[in-house]
Amino acid sequence: MTASTATETGAAIVKLEDVHLSFGQTEVLKGIDLTINKGDAVSIIGPSGSGKSTILRCINALVTPQSGKITVAGTRVDQLTKESERIQLRKRVGIVFQQYNLFPHLTVLDNIVLAPTKILGADRTATVKLARELLEKVRLSEKADAYPGQLSGGQQQRVAIARALAMKPELVLFDEVTSALDPETVGEVLWVIRDLIRDGMTSILVTHEMRFAEEISDTVVFTENGRIVDHGSPQQIFHTTDNPRIRQFVGGLS
Ligand code: ADP
Ligand code: MG
Repeated sequence: MTASTATETGAAIVKLEDVHLSFGQTEVLKGIDLTINKGDAVSIIGPSGSGKSTILRCINALVTPQSGKITVAGTRVDQLTKESERIQLRKRVGIVFQQYNLFPHLTVLDNIVLAPTKILGADRTATVKLARELLEKVRLSEKADAYPGQLSGGQQQRVAIARALAMKPELVLFDEVTSALDPETVGEVLWVIRDLIRDGMTSILVTHEMRFAEEISDTVVFTENGRIVDHGSPQQIFHTTDNPRIRQFVGGLS
């Protein structure tokens, strides 16, 4: 058994314990406790500036909290002191951002093949095969030889998802991945994420797509002002919560 396969379905794969993080004088995370089990889909919702992206960035070792514990797939992320250790961690935790940032001078296929071959040292032939399988999964097989500039925003975002999956991550973080898209291409990206979740990929999504969050989440977390105000099933958070702030925020979802 290797460290990277040690987490069994249903076991905690992400654990944040009393995480405090400040940027300068501003405390942005004020004691975050969060446990996510392998195979779960967790949505983080809440107003802008409440710390949602910062939580994801902590999990992915892009920022380090001043105090608290963060454990991801057996690794104490808060204790990683070397950039090389943080890079190791990031190989195992995929992240997809609002801005997909594909390499414009590389084809779709090469965008997907680049990181596994360069960073993991994976065999190119095997990686090309994997990339084609992933393109099929994100329903873009016919675009393998296109350049990003020839694709719609939704198509580019699906390539970015395939690129993250090509690293064979143990979990994937999605930070408002549909927020910059034209409304008519949001759905095609959500389909792809829904498929992934149904396949059992551990997924943490920051999203404003409330109905999607309701449909696909095992747990919904509501953040405000650097704290987790409440968490629970979609039914609890979207329909039966007594918390007036959450009711106001998710208002209209019936
Ligand atoms: P959300 O994703 O919920 O909108 P963020 O996690 O991006 O919130 O940000 C939480 C707070 O932290 C905001 O007030 C934001 O301005 C601040 N913040 C985020 N990143 C930085 C940074 N690198 N430097 C200083 N302040 C930051
Ligand atoms: Mg954000």
